[in-house]
Parts: sequence; C-alpha cells; structure tokens
Amino acid sequence: MVKSLNNIRQEFPILDQIVNDEPLIYLDNAATTQKPQAVIDAIVDYYQTDNANVHRGVHTLAERATEQYEAARQKVQRFINADQSAEIIFTKGTTQSLNWVASHFGPQVVQAGDEILISYMEHHSNLVPWQQLAQQTGAKLVYIDLLPDGQLDLADAKAKIGPRTKIVSLTHASNVLGVVNPIQAIAQLVHQFGNYLVVDGAQAIPHMPVDVQDLDADFYAFSGHKMLGPTGIGVLYGKKTLLEQVTPVEYGGEMIDFVELQQSTFKELPWRLEGGTPNIEGAIALGAAIDYLNQIGMAQIQAHEQALVAKAIPALQTIDGLTIYGPQNAQDRTGVIAFNLDNLHPHDLATALDMEGVAVRAGHHCAQPLMKWLNVAATARASSIYIIRKPMLINWFKQFKPQRSFSKMALSKLDNLYRQVILDHSQHPHHHGHLDTVDHEIELRNPTCGDVLQLEIALQDGKISQIAFSGEGCTISQASASMMTDAVLGKTPAQAETMIERFSDMMIGDRPDEDWEILEDAAILQGVQQFPARIKCATLAWKALHKALISDQHSAVSGQIVNHAETEETD
Ligand code: PMP
Repeated sequence: MVKSLNNIRQEFPILDQIVNDEPLIYLDNAATTQKPQAVIDAIVDYYQTDNANVHRGVHTLAERATEQYEAARQKVQRFINADQSAEIIFTKGTTQSLNWVASHFGPQVVQAGDEILISYMEHHSNLVPWQQLAQQTGAKLVYIDLLPDGQLDLADAKAKIGPRTKIVSLTHASNVLGVVNPIQAIAQLVHQFGNYLVVDGAQAIPHMPVDVQDLDADFYAFSGHKMLGPTGIGVLYGKKTLLEQVTPVEYGGEMIDFVELQQSTFKELPWRLEGGTPNIEGAIALGAAIDYLNQIGMAQIQAHEQALVAKAIPALQTIDGLTIYGPQNAQDRTGVIAFNLDNLHPHDLATALDMEGVAVRAGHHCAQPLMKWLNVAATARASSIYIIRKPMLINWFKQFKPQRSFSKMALSKLDNLYRQVILDHSQHPHHHGHLDTVDHEIELRNPTCGDVLQLEIALQDGKISQIAFSGEGCTISQASASMMTDAVLGKTPAQAETMIERFSDMMIGDRPDEDWEILEDAAILQGVQQFPARIKCATLAWKALHKALISDQHSAVSGQIVNHAETEETD
C-alpha cells in the first residue's frame, strides 16, 4: 500500500517537540535523518525478541537473527537493483565504504603515473582516501571543473577522462550544491577505457530511485543514517567480479572458512569482507527504513521534494542579501539548499534559526575545497525537506518577508548571546589589521566552522606592546578577539596567561558566581556558556594567544619570528 505523505511527520516521534519555545523544524537531514517509529520499533523488537549472533549459532534465536540480517541484505539488493545479494557488503557507512575501495581495491589498479579523477564538489570522504592512494602510489589526483552554477562540467570530464584515468570517483548528489551528477554518462566515458567508476551515493539514495545496474557504477557507497536508518550501518555495493578483487580489510571471525596454523581460507562474498560480528540491529533497522521508503515510493519522494524545492528556492530568492549556492532551478537539484545571508556569519544564522526552533547546519559541510571554489569560508544549509508537509514549510518561509530585516529579527531573540557590546565589538573590532613589526604571529583555525584567526604580537620591555588580529569569523569569534586584544594589551605574558585561564574557567561555567572583571569587556561572553556549540567561537582568540605566548617562551632566546598555522581540535 502506498503511504500518503500527509501524515508522515507524525510518524517521526522526535519531531513532536518544542525547541526554544517553538515547534521543532528539522532541516538538517543531510547530516543525519530522523527515524520513523517503524525503524525505532525494528531495533527494539530485535533486542526484545531475536538478539543473537549471526551465522554461528544453531539455536532458534541465532537462526532468526541470521535470517533477518540476510533479509536486510536482500532488501538493499532490491532497493538499488543490484544483480545479486553477494554484491551488498554491510559497512559502517559511506566513509568506510569509500575508504575500503580506495585502500583495498585502488592499489590493484592504480600505479605511478596513473590518474584518479574526482570533482571539486566532493565530500572529504570521497577526497581524502583518493589523496592518500595518490600519495602512496605516485598517481596524480585530478579534479573535474564545475560550471559557474555548480553543476559538473561534463565537457571538462570528457577532456580529462583518458586511458590513464584508472578510477573516477564522483558524488551522485552534492551535499552542498544539491546538484545531481550525470553518473551514466561518466560511466560510459570511464568504461570505454576499461577503467572504474566509484560513486558516493550518500546524498542521492534518500532522494531518488537508484538503480546501480542502470547507472553502471562499479562501486556505490551509502549510509543508513541518511535514509531514515540508524547510524553505524552503511553499504558498499560492488560488481561481484570487482568485489572479488577487494582484499579483506579485517581478518577474524565471520569471514573465514578454515583456519590452520599457518594459513586460512576465506568465505565467499559478501561475508569475506565482513570480518567480526557485524552491526546486526543496524542492518535489520536499515531494512526497516527501506521498507518505509518503499511504502512511500522513491519516485513519489523525489517528486514531493522537487515540489518543495520549487517553492523554497523562489521564497529564499526574495530575501534581501541571501545567496543560494548551486543551480537556481528546482529540477536541477535535490532538497539540499546551502545559502548565506550578507553580513551574517552562517554560525550566527544557524544559532538564530535554532532560537526559532529551526535546525540547519552551518559550516564547511566537510567540503573545504568546494568552499574555496565558492569563495566562502562556510555556508548555512537547509536539507532534505522531504519529510515535511508543505504547509509547514511554507509557514516557515513566510517568516522571511523581504521587507523585514531577518538578521535583526533573529538577533533580537538572542539577547544572551548577542549583547550590544558584543555586536559593537564584532562590527567595529578593536586592533583589527596587521602590525608593522611582528615578534610573534600565529594562525589558528576552527575546522568545525571554517573560522580562521591570525594573531600578531609585538613585545617591548617584557609586555605586550602591540597586538592585532585578522581573519574571518562569526560575531562571537570576532567580538571575542576584539575584547581579548583590548584586555591583554600592556600586560606581561604571565598576566595574559592568567587571563586566558580565567576566560577558560568562565567558559567551563562551573563557577557561575565568580567575578570575571579581570577580563574587562570579555566578561560579557559569559552568556556563551548557554550555547555549547558556540564556545569554540569564543575561545578561538584566547587559544591563539596562549599558543603564541608558548611559542614566545620557546623562541625568546633566539628571538625568531614564529610563524605557524595550527588547527584547533575538532569536538
Ligand atoms: N559523502 C557525502 C556526499 C556526504 O554527505 C556524507 C555525509 N555528510 C558522507 C559522504 C559521509 O557519510 P558518513 O559520515 O555517513 O560516512
């Protein structure tokens, strides 16, 4: 029976909640989808009635668990129209699937002087593994250009694919631009030279019917959690003859036939590539997610999503100062819409929307080369709106009246975070720029959001005599840098270190009654504690100062200029 789209929202229990006094509108599905009750039930049922290890026991529960696990494999096979279930390997997710192909198939077909071709729109999961393979083999990593609207430049692909292009690895749909790539056409180009096409299907599989045979993909990777299934389960599809060439990544239980003292024989596919106890409940619940998607029908999901995007894009285009990245036509894209609003950092925008109960992503979306190509540090992103009823979405977009200044409306809700003094510092930062004479400089990045801060310090008579910062960042990181430079100017490094420690104590927030006066204006940033995702924004400048001062101690003797870029650890 075909499921009607009208009541679907009610089948996602998590969506029935109030966030920051507003009903939750979850638009971060490209990061991970929420789960319908049917998927949650499948996990609970499995643990309440059938839990046992697979492929080893002879008792009833073991047989039931094995049956369900293998039934899930067959559901995946049918869902993507693979030729046989042996071609479906359960993995942790897209990242693992792509890594396995790059590291355990790649070296067999790629040699020094060969080329591996990817595009500028790839997620890091479909970029870094190929970078590694290129470095290890001496092959060259080549990028297909994008057209100005972000679509793949097929002419460039044609020009770049040749006999030396041993592997082309391409995303089926971009997690930022929403564009859908011409996989079939690329497959033809690659196959005419007898070479291989790997497809990152993470952002396509939840949005459209996928037929791997029709696409003629040699490998196709995707994640359960982006298609209403649980985390920790994903799929690597491969043509059987090619999967047979993939060397096992893990040796041990599950994947062996006979083990002798000095050698072993391995099972046939797919189990040969599934060493150890697999994610049984994950596979079963992924099967339930596939059942659920099938009840709606992928063609209906695709049509519904396009109808939503066709309303969303023009509505967004009416907002002053809003830039949508990627093609502006709904039919050229999935329901992933990345955008920026002038004069508002995407982090601030996401926090503001969160205050409205709307969950969007802000950052580089694990696509830093694409951010560079777009010439932005980060974007906001609303994604995969297929599970929202139309009226709800339309109501949401109605808030974006062009005559109303969205940034003012949003920021006014954020009193605690955006006090006037914070706005003043971010709009008119103190000590912003560069010094003529620099004793010590450092660049620190926050990889989560792409913020980057350069700090320059001059010391005289054992004191910080001049200080300046530059770089890009959100309201909080810019204001914090401005306040920090005010506070530490004229202080000795030891005094500055004490202030850094105090600022860090303030951010940890376990001494709420403390007097933070020593931090001067920066004391106002105490309110950031209530927004844990933003603490890194506030601390970036202080961490940069700490690192610069440490390097100061190390280099004080030689008096060398310290010039290094560092990356803040990710959470
Ligand atoms: N590729 C694309 C296009 C993605 O959007 C993602 C997830 N954001 C991945 C790969 C990685 O998926 P996972 O983290 O589930 O392995």
